[in-house]
Amino acid sequence: MEECIFCKMVNKEILIVPIYEDEQTLAFLDINPASSKGGHTLVISKTHYGNLIDMSEEDLEAVSRTIKKVSRALLKIYPGLNIMQNNGKEAGQYVMHVHFHLIPRYEGDGITIEKWVPQKYAEGQMEEVLEKIKSFL
Ligand code: AMP
Ligand code: ZN
Repeated sequence: MEECIFCKMVNKEILIVPIYEDEQTLAFLDINPASSKGGHTLVISKTHYGNLIDMSEEDLEAVSRTIKKVSRALLKIYPGLNIMQNNGKEAGQYVMHVHFHLIPRYEGDGITIEKWVPQKYAEGQMEEVLEKIKSFL
């Protein structure tokens, strides 16, 4: 993908701050960290996939291993960690090359990831949603 900035990082055409690299994956510092203490890391597959469901099982497994490896290091430094992966612009995905955000968390970090407003299911809605999801599994 010629115009993809993450592919350019993989091809070393754009400078990054790498944390870890292996044959299939790359982990690097997000240039605009979610909090002032930094450590916000992106883990990507070196192969270009738009989103999670496009990924091969092998690359997904490789990315999972890298996520675990880097998470272990981050959790030695910061007490908490959110792992986020956005699919589609409605979900906040701006770079259309699948990537996982590893976001270190600590008391008073001012990050609001988990602050959605919990809703209630209407009568019968839960069953309807359940059936719809299950029909696509
Ligand atoms: P998303 O909004 O989920 O698509 O995440 C894209 C992420 O890529 C953002 O958090 C950006 O800060 C990050 N990003 C964009 N350009 C760079 C870059 N050159 N180096 C490191 N991170 C970047
Ligand atoms: Zn790409």
